[in-house]
Amino acid sequence: MTNWQALEKKYFMTTFKRMPLTLDQGQGARVWDEQGKEYLDFTAGWGVNSLGHCHPAVVGAVNLQVRTLIQASNQFYTIPQIKLAELLVGNSCLDRVFFCNSGVEATEGAVKLARRYGKLHLNGAYGVVTAINSFHGRTLAMTAASGQRKFQEPYTPVPAGFVNVDYNNVNAVKEAANSQTCAVMLEPIQGEGGVNIPDDDYLKGVRDWCDGKGLLLILDEVQTGIGRIGTLFGYEQFGIEPDIITLGKGLGGGVPIGAFLAKEKASVFAPGEHGSTFGGNPLACAAAYATLHFIIDGDIPSRVKQTGAYLMSKLEKLATKFDFIAEVRGRGLLVAVQFDRDLSDEVVRACLERGLLLNPVKPNAIRFMPPLNITRRDVDEAITILDPVLAEVGKEMQKDGGSDRHQRTISEEGN
Ligand SMILES: *Cc1c(COP(=O)(O)O)cnc(C)c1O
Repeated sequence: MTNWQALEKKYFMTTFKRMPLTLDQGQGARVWDEQGKEYLDFTAGWGVNSLGHCHPAVVGAVNLQVRTLIQASNQFYTIPQIKLAELLVGNSCLDRVFFCNSGVEATEGAVKLARRYGKLHLNGAYGVVTAINSFHGRTLAMTAASGQRKFQEPYTPVPAGFVNVDYNNVNAVKEAANSQTCAVMLEPIQGEGGVNIPDDDYLKGVRDWCDGKGLLLILDEVQTGIGRIGTLFGYEQFGIEPDIITLGKGLGGGVPIGAFLAKEKASVFAPGEHGSTFGGNPLACAAAYATLHFIIDGDIPSRVKQTGAYLMSKLEKLATKFDFIAEVRGRGLLVAVQFDRDLSDEVVRACLERGLLLNPVKPNAIRFMPPLNITRRDVDEAITILDPVLAEVGKEMQKDGGSDRHQRTISEEGN
């Protein structure tokens, strides 16, 4: 049998700290490795496989489109991208869209749009205020936007024009802004930062202040968008309307696509000022249209709310049983369990051995982001695997007499 993992070690740049698992197939919430062993997938391709692996609606749309027109360039009109744009605009508070291929292209594009707005309407202001522990992607500019030193330090100097302030603190935003500021960019809930949920009035406070100053509010919904937290878009839960949102991850049901949408007043690109070879290509847009249509028609966001509450209640039960669980937090199906020490690596690996895939989002926190259409039975099954793993970990800790041998950090931010 081919040793794929050895070949990967030989040929790849050493960017990814991968789990020792080679995936071969997926169906619904389940994946199979090359030996045919089955796993319940609560990572969903990093929150991307919103309808599970190989959902028939996505497979059908891709199958049809791949035989019709795969790529055409934006020199011409193509139908799937126009249908997708209409569906996104019709179901959001935004007016216009730009399609790209990934989350980071969406955030980078949104910042370019805000800078363009700054030049036209704010005396050339270009600065963007973002939050500490945020994640906006991996281009050079977006590492500067992402308020995490470890992404910036290997590449300094990073592009200027970004200031990172405390999350969930309206005053910190106010104090950091100046006459050169054109926008504030925030995640409604910080995903890669560890599923950090702000107070209910935080985004409202920032929105009101931006309105007072005439600044744009960009919400990075690459992770929170398309049903993940129980509404089609995250902003709906915070009683505000952003000027710009970014989308990626779950939008294509597994196929790579990104987008940013803006209000009419912020849609200031002139012809030729932004572009993309693949952005909006018919194949990706057909997949996204099918995904979005299914999510809207089936009212999947309500289901996410219910299944998410069920998952949280089960995890909270585990928290009463295991005192090293410090907190269970989340919205919809974006959920984290916080430990009081660095146990993520150990827990995630033990779950993997028993057939459950989880993400160690922080050395001391694990993240759950299963497909949006998982069932309660899937949740029960995950808990049935997790419970004895935690019991085992707890026993080990007692044997160690509480000494902390769990300080290794692994696949944190391995995306
Ligand atoms: C994942 C993520 C990105 C980056 O998306 P890529 O497709 O990996 O470029 C940007 N913002 C947020 C909030 C994300 O979760």
